[in-house]
Amino acid sequence: MNSQILVVGAGFSGASVARKLAEQGEDVLVMDRLGHIAGAAYDEKDQNGITVHKYGSHIFHTSKPQVWKFVRRFAQFNTYMHKVCALIDGTEAFIPFNLSTIRKLFPPTLANRLEEKLLERFDYNAKIPISEFKKQNDADLKFLASYIYEKVFLNYTKKQWGTDKVDRAVTARVPVLIGTDSRYFSDVYQGIPIGGYTRLIENMLSHKKIRVVLNRKFEGARESKKFKAVYYTGSIDEFFEYNLGMLPYRSLRFEFRTHDAPYYQSNSVINYPCNYDFTRIHEFKYYLDERSPKTTIAYEYPQPFIDGENERFYPIETRANSALYKKYLKQAQKFENVRFLGRLGDYKYYNMDEAVERAMSMV
Ligand code: UDP
Repeated sequence: MNSQILVVGAGFSGASVARKLAEQGEDVLVMDRLGHIAGAAYDEKDQNGITVHKYGSHIFHTSKPQVWKFVRRFAQFNTYMHKVCALIDGTEAFIPFNLSTIRKLFPPTLANRLEEKLLERFDYNAKIPISEFKKQNDADLKFLASYIYEKVFLNYTKKQWGTDKVDRAVTARVPVLIGTDSRYFSDVYQGIPIGGYTRLIENMLSHKKIRVVLNRKFEGARESKKFKAVYYTGSIDEFFEYNLGMLPYRSLRFEFRTHDAPYYQSNSVINYPCNYDFTRIHEFKYYLDERSPKTTIAYEYPQPFIDGENERFYPIETRANSALYKKYLKQAQKFENVRFLGRLGDYKYYNMDEAVERAMSMV
């Protein structure tokens, strides 16, 4: 048997685990089916000199000091703090909803009433899911809940997830802030790696004990026997050649455009919850404050994942799908030298910092 450890996938999860293992003295082979490292965080400079996130906007944010410390060994970060605008009834307003969003969207009498009621009933700066407003015995707060549900969640979710059953976990992910902080994330540490994510991952993988092979598909369970250990960040159903059926995912398609103007829109991301078939438009030069007479944008279109046609972006964590995942995990017990991790390997909607934390805690 080989004394090497195999890591399948060169994204944040795979690169973090590989680095940790290499620093413990292990020989690590990292294999990726794609022609590039960094997985879905992959970015590159385009012909306009703008660093483009090829799989959609990635913003690093965490409140975990150990994760922040680890990633900063491989890149310097700027102090970019993400805000997301949504076009609601023709007006651009920051989401998640906060007191300023309410002021921007509603006439002053209604906004005043809502603000008074919210401040009376909830703590300042508390994050309240809209389901909480529905429970209140108050017509204005019930109106606010239905308004946000319809204008922010319902149509966006139809496009994003292909269903009009909005999961409670989703509305809880974007709660209303009883304050005026318009940032999308409230984490202590936020930023974009100066030099880009691809460079960050390259630095992480740059170690004498790590060898990286690209454009190389892992052959599944059979190949794992050749290695001392395998850390697999792909989808577990593929590992087992789909013998229990396919795990569903959502995918995305991006349409990139160049505009002959310094800026196209007022913010890095504008969501279109109610209009059009795309969910959002990204404008990438905001992230590193890159200057160019031109600008690069991308329209984001959600679509189902189809094997061989597009990539997996989001696990669809319904009860049935998670049960199927668990069946695969049970099957995996026979492979004692194999461990699964990452958004695909764990079938969990991780943010980048959660992927890094999971990888760090595994080694
Ligand atoms: N969401 C929504 N409307 C929005 C923004 C988000 O309904 O304008 C919901 C939607 O279901 C989405 C989830 O919240 O999938 C998480 O959104 P986020 O932007 O955090 O997701 P990501 O950037 O990971 O795609």
